[in-house]
Amino acid sequence: MTKVVTRRDALTLVGAAAVAAALPVPVQQVLANVPAARGGVFVVGTEGERDWQIFHASDAHEAILDAVEEWSGFRDCEEGGGPKVECDCDFCYKFSQFDSQRVKEWDDRDLDKITEADWVRVGMCAPCSRCGWDEAYPSDLVVIEEKVVCWDCLTEQENEAFDRTRC
Ligand SMILES: [Zn+2]
Ligand SMILES: [Zn+2]
Repeated sequence: MTKVVTRRDALTLVGAAAVAAALPVPVQQVLANVPAARGGVFVVGTEGERDWQIFHASDAHEAILDAVEEWSGFRDCEEGGGPKVECDCDFCYKFSQFDSQRVKEWDDRDLDKITEADWVRVGMCAPCSRCGWDEAYPSDLVVIEEKVVCWDCLTEQENEAFDRTRC
């Protein structure tokens, strides 16, 4: 497993060290026992496709690796090592296709219980519960009583209600 230290990681580590230095000794000891990367929830998939899945990972790179492994069965390039830009093996191809998005809202959730309404609430897509349309943009979808509804399926009454909240 390779872990890429991104610029953001590096900044966070510097920040944590600075905070630790300013704290009394007992707290420093507690901080030292907390794993550096607690990780969180990411969704991984292909831009514009309906293949997004949920992963718990230490960072975006790990989340994409998990998704590629699930898809291809590989966690490394067929020629060995990490993903390569010019390689077209299954692993490298899929790694270049997948995108990830951090979903902090789901960190404390039971991931088996994420609903389609939850996906829409974090700005992702889900099929309309009334007409089954699954190509709507997130901005075309609303959640009514925990069900995903596209703008076309809104009753006149619902439409008015949303118009009121938007004003
Ligand atoms: Zn490769
Ligand atoms: Zn609909």
